[in-house]
Amino acid sequence: MNKEELNKIKQKALEEHIPIIMDDTLEVVDKILKEIKPQKILEIGTAVGYSAMCFSEYLQENGTIDTIERDKQRVEEAKTNIEKVGVSNKINIYEGDAVEILPTLNEKYDAIFIDAAKGKYPFFLKEALRMLKPNGVILADNILYKGYVMSDYNKHKQRTAVRNLREYIKEVTEDPNLETEILEVGDGLAISKLKK
Ligand code: SAH
Ligand code: MG
Repeated sequence: MNKEELNKIKQKALEEHIPIIMDDTLEVVDKILKEIKPQKILEIGTAVGYSAMCFSEYLQENGTIDTIERDKQRVEEAKTNIEKVGVSNKINIYEGDAVEILPTLNEKYDAIFIDAAKGKYPFFLKEALRMLKPNGVILADNILYKGYVMSDYNKHKQRTAVRNLREYIKEVTEDPNLETEILEVGDGLAISKLKK
């Protein structure tokens, strides 16, 4: 994989304010993926492909990532980027709304990265649980949403997102089959491991 190209793509995304995974969050995810050596990863929210390309380093040989993005322009840019970095054999992009695409998938995944519409996190969780392998892990980015989620910020215009992120946290912490940790890295990361 061409790291120099990857770094250029990262810088461009930052300049354009595309909300790519933050460095401290990536560090945590890297460690987890290194440990589980995934065969299959599912990502919800590709943007320009940055996180998927970072994660592809930790796949087993012949492992692949399925990633979903609804913005056509971003899908095109992601495809170009993935080609440039030399990982197109490892990353498969589904173009469309994850709410429609997820129910059509019937794969099993070792790791699932949720990083799209915050108001849909409880739905994404339900679908992720259906497709998670035993000992698999679900990672949810932006789970603390600038601190709104843990404060009493109920009148904020983003209250639907906040309500749904809170609902997600409640579900993963109360599910007896999951072991969950919420970290304050980046914009907040929820890590939920499926107990065997
Ligand atoms: N994972 C990327 C960043 C994703 S940003 C990285 O770290 O590099 C979130 C992306 O999710 C945006 O590009 C947005 O268009 C997409 N998105 C939001 N809601 C979606 C949905 N319901 N279905 C598919 N994509 C969605
Ligand atoms: Mg994010």
